[in-house]
Amino acid sequence: DSYPNASDKPVDSPVLGDELQFTESDIQEAITRDQFLVEFQPQVSLRDNSWVGVEALARWLHPEHGLLYPGAFIATAESAAVALAFTEHVIGIALRQFGRLAAEVGFQGSLSVNIPPTALTDVQFPDRLLPALAECGVAPDTFVLEMTENSLPENDQVVLDILTRLSMRGVSVSIDDFGTGKSSLERLQGAPFNELKIDMVFVQNAQTEPSSAAIVESAVSLGRRLNMNVVAEGVETCEAAQWLHSIGCGMAQGYRFGRPMTLDKLVAWAADRPDSSGATSKDEL
Ligand code: C2E
Ligand code: MG
Ligand code: MG
Repeated sequence: DSYPNASDKPVDSPVLGDELQFTESDIQEAITRDQFLVEFQPQVSLRDNSWVGVEALARWLHPEHGLLYPGAFIATAESAAVALAFTEHVIGIALRQFGRLAAEVGFQGSLSVNIPPTALTDVQFPDRLLPALAECGVAPDTFVLEMTENSLPENDQVVLDILTRLSMRGVSVSIDDFGTGKSSLERLQGAPFNELKIDMVFVQNAQTEPSSAAIVESAVSLGRRLNMNVVAEGVETCEAAQWLHSIGCGMAQGYRFGRPMTLDKLVAWAADRPDSSGATSKDEL
């Protein structure tokens, strides 16, 4: 079994909901009715297996369809009409819960949230985000905005201005699903990215496909040369974690370490770790 413990499997039975169709006003209404929630997935350092961050992932507790994963609704939620409202709503939920992590388990790592460029249209976004971080006791330099590269518009001055302003205040900007978008290398220039997340497709195929292994190795060395934090996504096995460490990848996220969990489960997960605040033996990778 590649999962550390069976209890990591989600309690609820979320539905993929691929067949469902939602409109922008469905999303708006779900925001108003407070039907979105977040789960947190841990990120660990491959150097010493310590717990260093969490990524907040949106879910929709739909009154008819049950708990929905992003695959069912995120394309609509990222459409221009609702992207900013949805993003700020989810960030608000994540921040309030994340504030409790510090209080309840003394966690001092980072919080990552996903943000589509369609939500970066308002130059006043930083003026609302920074006070919201302060209010929840989250230091800007522990906050990470993850953007998928294929959704990054080229030469969008407003997007760049917003990212640059936040970056100057200490917020990190991460390029999500690296390797899958177009012009991925070109887009590393100009925007203030300081983290690169290698898409799980390459990470998972690397064990069996030399071409995927080569892509992961190049992405790691590129990230290191550009002084970026490199995170491997979708790490499910001990072998994958050890290999990633051996090629110089700094951080990992995946079922090997923990599934996305509600805050309560995350608190329990943290308590179960040999040493939740610091290093554990490298053998436990
Ligand atoms: P992502 O940001 O790349 O998030 C990682 C996804 O990979 C999550 O799926 C997570 O559950 C899954 N995952 C993590 N580790 C493993 C593993 O070891 N094996 C496998 N098979 N999967 C793993 P999820 O939660 O379904 O999210 C899918 C995507 O939806 C995210 O991909 C992100 O692009 C988007 N998303 C999620 N929450 C938000 C949000 O609040 N706002 C926006 N704009 N997008 C979001
Ligand atoms: Mg992400
Ligand atoms: Mg990703």
